[in-house]
Amino acid sequence: MQIAQVIVDIPTSQTNNPFSYLIPDNLSGQVSPGMRVQVPFGPRKITGFIVAITDRSEFQGKLKPISSLVDLYPVINQELLELATWMAGQTYSFKINCLQTMLPGGMRTKFKKKLIAKSDQIRDDNPQIFAGQNEVDYDRAHYSSNLLSQILNLQKTDQIKVEYELTIHAKPVMMAAFKRQMTPEALKAESQHVRSNAIAQQHLLKLLLDHPDEQFLQSKLNQKGISSSTTRVAEQRGWIKKTQVRQIRNPFLRSVKKSQPLKLNADQQAAVSQINSATSTKQNQIFLLEGVTGSGKTEVYLQSIAHALSLGRTALMLVPEITLTPQIVGRIRSRFGDQVAMLHSALSNGERFDEWQRINSGQAKVVVGVRSAVFAPLTNLGLIIIDEEHDSSYKQADNPRYQTRDVAKWRAAYHHCPVVLGSATPSLESRARAMKGVYRLLRLPHRINRHALPHVSIIDMKIEMAKHHSALSTALSTAISDRLAKHEQIILLLNRRGYSSFLMCRDCGYVPRCPNCDISLTMHKDTGTLDCHYCGHKEPIPRVCPQCHSKRIGHYGMGSQQLEEQVKEMFPTARVLRMDVDTTRRKGSHEAIIDKFGAHKADILLGTQMIAKGLDFPEVTLVGVLNADSALAFPDFRSSERTFELLTQVSGRAGRADKTGEVFIQTFNPDHYAIQLAQTQDYERFYATEMRVRHDGKYPPYYFTVKLTGSSPNENQTAAEMYAILNFLKANLSKMAIILGPTPKTITRINNRYYYQIIIKYQNEPHLKAVLDQVLLKSQKKQRHGLQIAIDNEPLDFM
Ligand code: ADP
Ligand code: ZN
Ligand code: ZN
Repeated sequence: MQIAQVIVDIPTSQTNNPFSYLIPDNLSGQVSPGMRVQVPFGPRKITGFIVAITDRSEFQGKLKPISSLVDLYPVINQELLELATWMAGQTYSFKINCLQTMLPGGMRTKFKKKLIAKSDQIRDDNPQIFAGQNEVDYDRAHYSSNLLSQILNLQKTDQIKVEYELTIHAKPVMMAAFKRQMTPEALKAESQHVRSNAIAQQHLLKLLLDHPDEQFLQSKLNQKGISSSTTRVAEQRGWIKKTQVRQIRNPFLRSVKKSQPLKLNADQQAAVSQINSATSTKQNQIFLLEGVTGSGKTEVYLQSIAHALSLGRTALMLVPEITLTPQIVGRIRSRFGDQVAMLHSALSNGERFDEWQRINSGQAKVVVGVRSAVFAPLTNLGLIIIDEEHDSSYKQADNPRYQTRDVAKWRAAYHHCPVVLGSATPSLESRARAMKGVYRLLRLPHRINRHALPHVSIIDMKIEMAKHHSALSTALSTAISDRLAKHEQIILLLNRRGYSSFLMCRDCGYVPRCPNCDISLTMHKDTGTLDCHYCGHKEPIPRVCPQCHSKRIGHYGMGSQQLEEQVKEMFPTARVLRMDVDTTRRKGSHEAIIDKFGAHKADILLGTQMIAKGLDFPEVTLVGVLNADSALAFPDFRSSERTFELLTQVSGRAGRADKTGEVFIQTFNPDHYAIQLAQTQDYERFYATEMRVRHDGKYPPYYFTVKLTGSSPNENQTAAEMYAILNFLKANLSKMAIILGPTPKTITRINNRYYYQIIIKYQNEPHLKAVLDQVLLKSQKKQRHGLQIAIDNEPLDFM
């Protein structure tokens, strides 16, 4: 008797251990761990992942059999099954959520609820419910409460039934193709009967004789003048047979030219040899590759990947969401061609599914992708690279709240391979580990060809603002005019964090706010709406103040749209491109902007953080940062680090080729150390200064942190629960743990739920995990009252 151990799709502590199901005879031999199945669970059917197959079960009662298979092959391999278990513990989440996170969006399953009328009479009597159909999609239809009670009554009297239909989003694309069916001799004999004017038929016969094993798509045959009517005739005569072939969707918008490895400089060479030797000897070494912008880190990655491939192993390269630009993907593909697969959120579900399958089947040996690509099912890994390792997009903000660096380290330990963490501005956590010798530090201290770092000027906007009210200082606008005259290119960065455009009445001070959240609405001129970025609420921009009916209602703050208008007004002949979330929403638009700017079809590229990183435009000689310190104002202990990183990154965009670059940083805090040290790109002094701040404030990397967030629809209830948790923590953790809160979150109400948080800082708390698991378990029993507790291990956001 074979028993499948299944993690079912119900995230609770009770279901975090597998349930046992019998493998029925008709499925025996077809089932293995890592496949998804449908199983009965109470009165319902749900999906689940088989994590093991055993011949015994702990369960005493009568076992139910698996209902059906969702997959015909395992979608989660043994390594990832083990990783899910580790990750669930590490992130205080459930195994089912971890397993689902590992699959690309297009492969996730979903149940569609269907209402089926048991008789025509029932259908006719309830026209509003069935709207002329026998079956209706229960989820999609918008039922009023009146209709819902009608449905419930019908259910009670057993006159309708609810069925669940399982769907998977992405499917393989199949195309009709034709394959030779007759022997060559028979085909030759056939050719005798073909009329002399049937040219297409003769062509087809020759094609079949010349390429006996090929499968021909109709589209390919069309190009050769063989139409579908010809293939129909050929099919009837038995020359060919129609089959289905799988078409792989191609996520790459264009092809690239092959490139050869560059001759490395001494620093690059030293880095590559150390990494390669760790790959060759299967050492699970973690390297921190610290190299200033333009020092040639990417070439180090490429040559280390090439080495891993030469040993018959695979490589995974992760880049931040924002920098997965066509430039970097292009560089990797130009070296490794079709062996490269890309996993990125901008791909369609179908493209992601096909790329994932190319990886799973072993066809793709190099994967480049964003955070979730860390779960790419590569086997035999020889190297993992995390570029811009300090980037905050590597931490997932939602359940499961994993840190990509930690998952990568786990996988590297599993495969006995090295990890390379690369950055110009390493996170303090990683740098501190390198100083302790836990990581090995590799340095690229100079730019390629010793190009000078750009000259950086700091502009005090307090003085500027006293003179005029333009977003551009006098010095920066003079420099822009100068570059425009020289036909050189310019990048302008608007630091969007904490900087949005909102509406205010100049007479009564009214600011439109979200009805569901404690936040003012952001203005979007292009759509003509005021949007809430937390819950998605939208409303039209009012013409008059809803409070005092004044017409003097206008926008404050500056978004990239307003900046674009101002710049165009000041420099009417300049060709301006804007890159932000609004202009890059459409697929391919990101590439189009980069291509256009790269081809010097525009003079000024302005935008948000998106333009700060990873881009390499040789003709850019001027970079302006308009509001360097908007991130400094955030109540977050990492705000200095973020500011320093951003300024260093964006300054690195200037003067990457032979012309020296110049950078202007506009700020209201010209004396802040993060800004001062970004001026000289002095990471070393920034690290020393910031480490002192962290030490005195008892922050990471000196302390570990955990954040507990509680929420419910009732503020008093949330607060009361969080105080109860505080007392429990105080009673169970050591006196050394620092427990802060509970405090309301900066934005206390989101989507009509109230959020409070507790932060724990600690250096050594061996019982912490067990204590927090108990907090979670207790909170689950209260979920009925709408209370939710989330635990974030090493959070990036403390607000
Ligand atoms: P980083 O990733 O450190 O910012 P890049 O890898 O983008 O730096 O390198 C900057 C530029 O220098 C790129 O245009 C790259 O092609 C070039 N480059 C890198 N290594 C070499 C080398 N060894 N010889 C010549 N050019 C190089
Ligand atoms: Zn008003
Ligand atoms: Zn809202």
